[in-house]
This record gives sequence, structure tokens and C-alpha cells, in this order.
Amino acid sequence: MKNITFTMIKPYAVECGNIGTILDIIITHNFKIRAMKYTRLSRSQAEKFYSVHKDRPFFNDLVEFMSSGPIVAAILEKENAVNDYRELIGSTDPAQAAEGTIRKLYGYSVQKNAVHGSDSDENAIIESNFFFPTFERY
Ligand code: ADP
Ligand code: MG
Repeated sequence: MKNITFTMIKPYAVECGNIGTILDIIITHNFKIRAMKYTRLSRSQAEKFYSVHKDRPFFNDLVEFMSSGPIVAAILEKENAVNDYRELIGSTDPAQAAEGTIRKLYGYSVQKNAVHGSDSDENAIIESNFFFPTFERY
């Protein structure tokens, strides 16, 4: 059964000109784009999106970074979308990520790790709803 995951191309990867190549990897690996937008998070939107991490020491820096410039947000559909996408992006720390993964190829640091990927089906739905109304999904 096909299901969805949610991704963002983070500000530093956008700034470095890596939108096209990251989308190409995603599409080549058979993820279907159901929704996509080029946008920028406000500080309060970034705080809300990452609220699960609000007590972590990196929270303020993360919010600052994620609202520092434009991002690409997208809903991706595939069989086993959440797990397959986590495998395609690699570990949170690009230095630990497997060869060929998006974070290994385009991550710069733990914070500037190129992309976000949902960690569960439940969060994929919550995160997709955060960005996309039904009429922006195809
Ligand atoms: P993931 O994005 O792999 O699901 P987490 O949900 O644990 O990782 O963390 C969310 C984001 O917070 C990470 O993608 C990264 O940008 C940032 N982050 C996580 N851990 C750290 C850390 N130790 N130092 C700085 N930033 C971090
Ligand atoms: Mg996470």
C-alpha cells in the first residue's frame, strides 16, 4: 500500500543551489510528488513545526536556522514512504550517513543536514497538514 512522507529541503541546501539535484534523487527513487512549495518559515512556524524538540539544547539554533531563508516543502508518496525516505536521506549527522544518501552528499553539519524527513506515518500526516491544504495536493 502506498503512503506518504513529508520532506523539506532546508535553507542551506537551497542557498547552495541543491534544490534540483535533491529533487532529482527523490524522483529517481520512485517517490511521487503529491504537493510541493517554495516558501519560508516564520520563526513561530519553525517553533511549532519542531515543538517536539523544544526542550533540547539545539532548539533555538534550529528554529533560527530553519527560518533563516527559503525552503522547499513537499509531500512524497511511495510504498513504505516513511522508512524508504529515511533510508534515502541517511543519518541525522551527515558524517555518520551512508554513502550515496542525500545527507551524505549534500549535508554540511548536523544542523544543516540538507533535508527533513518524517519519522512516522502519524507525523507524516501532521507535517503534511501543517503545510498543505487538500486543494494543493494532486
Ligand atoms: P532527524 O531530522 O534526523 O529526524 P531529529 O528529529 O532528531 O533528527 O532532529 C531534528 C533536526 O534538529 C535535525 O535534522 C537537525 O537539523 C537538528 N538537530 C538534531 N540534533 C542536533 C544536534 N545535536 N545539534 C544541532 N542540531 C541538531
Ligand atoms: Mg526528526
